[in-house]
Amino acid sequence: MNEYDIVVIGSGPAGAVTAFFAAKNGLKVLLVDKKQELGAPIQCSGAVSHNALEQAGVDASAEFVQEAIYGFAIYNTAGQKKLVDYRELKPGEYGAGAGCKPLGYVVDRRRFDRYLATQAERAGATLWLKTEAVSYRVLDNGSCEVDLKKFNEAVTVKAKVVVGADGVQSQVGKWAGVKTHIKLSELASCLQFVVDGVETNGLLEIITGHEWAPGGYAWVFPKGHGYAEIGLGITTTMCNHTAQFYLDHFLKHSFFKERFKNCRILEIQGGGVPLTAPLKTQYADNLILTGDAARHVNSITGGGIHTALTGGKITGEFLAAFIKSGKPANKENLKACQDEWLKVLGNNMWKLYREKRTIFEIPDIAKRDEQLYKVMSSYFSPDSEYKKI
Ligand SMILES: Cc1cc2nc3c(=O)[nH]c(=O)nc-3n(C[C@H](O)[C@H](O)[C@H](O)COP(=O)(O)OP(=O)(O)OC[C@H]3O[C@@H](n4cnc5c(N)ncnc54)[C@H](O)[C@@H]3O)c2cc1C
Repeated sequence: MNEYDIVVIGSGPAGAVTAFFAAKNGLKVLLVDKKQELGAPIQCSGAVSHNALEQAGVDASAEFVQEAIYGFAIYNTAGQKKLVDYRELKPGEYGAGAGCKPLGYVVDRRRFDRYLATQAERAGATLWLKTEAVSYRVLDNGSCEVDLKKFNEAVTVKAKVVVGADGVQSQVGKWAGVKTHIKLSELASCLQFVVDGVETNGLLEIITGHEWAPGGYAWVFPKGHGYAEIGLGITTTMCNHTAQFYLDHFLKHSFFKERFKNCRILEIQGGGVPLTAPLKTQYADNLILTGDAARHVNSITGGGIHTALTGGKITGEFLAAFIKSGKPANKENLKACQDEWLKVLGNNMWKLYREKRTIFEIPDIAKRDEQLYKVMSSYFSPDSEYKKI
């Protein structure tokens, strides 16, 4: 009974979308997550573009959308602002009016992750919550076994392929000997407060500058119902203080201090973001890695939802065709999934990673700040030279 075509470990956006496309295309899929409530505790601001959802076939459901986004405001250290408001730049296309659409959304990750897992289940996947994958091994017959801890019970399932979609702290790749190590200098430490009492206007506000967020940036995102997210990501090897210190400094001493004066903190959330290159090898015998586990994060913006959705779709569709082909699931054959991902997404991610390194390797802080502000300002423009991810 416990035999599946694929077992997907981790039901974040990458795993749930992989499971959805694999099940929709006829595979017998088991999706497991160690959490008892998907998406919780929240470790994400939830900003995602309309295009990202559309490309992954996800409707922008009121079930998880908290606020519509229409553009960006990018600030330099001193508070000088570049406004990229698509309501003004492309009024016929973007806005709240009839025939117009938002540029993106801030989503509630608890509801978003549950929604995506539900779509996978409705397509035929089996979802096991509170089920932790603890190891996997390749068998002589070309398939593999995954050891799970389901509630407190040990369960072993058989599969043709395992998908490691187990996030930034991924262990699944390590089990197969894939090099997944992230240097501390390429791991952003992020902290955000969900607050009441801070006005927002449908824009993602991004604040650059070593003073506020060394090796990253600070943000103010609208959260809906009058709430906002104020957060930042820093690279700890570029400074001597913690993310908490910098968030406090930003709240109390930045050019926004008057704006933040009366804010009330309702939630505290945090986590790590791999601002690193995608893994050079994202597969092994009977294994494919996707999402944060494969370091599929945009290293300029730190965004990983879009890339997780796209990576999940590529992986799910690839595996459906691959398993039907009957080819052995060895690493030589599974490489084709990474080749497809490189074509659709990966080559651009490598370009963004190189750009990020060029910025953060500038030794002079003022020049580095200037370059980051320039890149961020142009990144979100309609005529951006950076292919948006
Ligand atoms: C503070 C913060 C803010 C962020 N803001 C944004 C943003 O605004 N926009 C954006 O695009 N990105 C943002 N990101 C990044 C984004 O959250 C991630 O890139 C994205 O969640 C990656 O999706 P994923 O499916 O690969 O991994 P995850 O969402 O991390 O999902 C991995 C899942 O695997 C499960 N798991 C792990 N190990 C096991 C195991 N052994 N067995 C079973 N289950 C397991 C976990 O429980 C988890 O549910 C932010 C990150 C942080 C930390």
